[in-house]
Amino acid sequence: MEEADAREEYERLVEEIKRCQKCPLHAYRRNPVPGEGPLNARVMLVGEAPGRREDEQGRPFVGMAGRLLTSILEKVGLPRRTVYITNVVKCRPPGNRDPKPEEIQACLPYLLRQIRLIRPRVIVALGRISGKTLYEQAGLRWRGISRERGVPREARIAGVEVVLLATYHPAAAIYNPRLRPLLEEDLGKVPRLLGEHGGRRFRSLEDFFPS
Ligand code: SF4
Repeated sequence: MEEADAREEYERLVEEIKRCQKCPLHAYRRNPVPGEGPLNARVMLVGEAPGRREDEQGRPFVGMAGRLLTSILEKVGLPRRTVYITNVVKCRPPGNRDPKPEEIQACLPYLLRQIRLIRPRVIVALGRISGKTLYEQAGLRWRGISRERGVPREARIAGVEVVLLATYHPAAAIYNPRLRPLLEEDLGKVPRLLGEHGGRRFRSLEDFFPS
C-alpha cells in the first residue's frame, strides 16, 4: 500500500473507532484510544485496554504504567517515538476491570486492521490478555504469561508475518517490582531481533536464534 493510501486508511480507521458503539464500553468512555506512533513502525506494542489517564487524554500508556514503559523503551534503545502503541480494546472498561471476551471480540477487527496497515516486524504483547488474544489470532497455544514471556514466536497475524513476543504488562511491574527486570529483559530483546535481521521477514526460529 502506498504511504498516502495507508495514511488515508488509517485516518478512516481512527474515525470509525471514535464513532464506534459496537460494545457496551462505548458508554463509559470519555475518549476512545485508537493508538499512536509512526505508521512505518517496525515494532508494535499491544496492551490490554486504556486506563483512567488514557481515557482522559485519548492516548495510550500515559499514566504511571506508561511512564515506566517509556523509560524502559528508552533504556533498551527503542525510543517511544519509533514504536506504534495500542491496546486490544480501545475504550476504557469501568473501574479498570478486565475487558470481557465479547468486548475483545467486538474490538479485535480494529487491532487486526492496524496490524495489516502498519505491518510491524515485531509485535510485543503486554500482559496476559494481549498475549492470549494475539496467540489465538496466530493459532498458537497460550500457556500463561509466566511460561510464554520472553520467548519470541514466529507468527502470522492478520496475514502479516511477525515475531510475537509476550511480556508482562507495565502495570503489573508497578504492583510487583520483581517483574520489572523481567519486563526490561524481554523488551531488551526487541532491538536485537530487529538488528540481526534488518528489514527482511522472519521465516523460522533459527532466523533469529542462529546456532
Ligand atoms: S471497545 Fe472497541 S468495540 Fe467497544 S465501543 Fe470501544 S472501539 Fe468499539
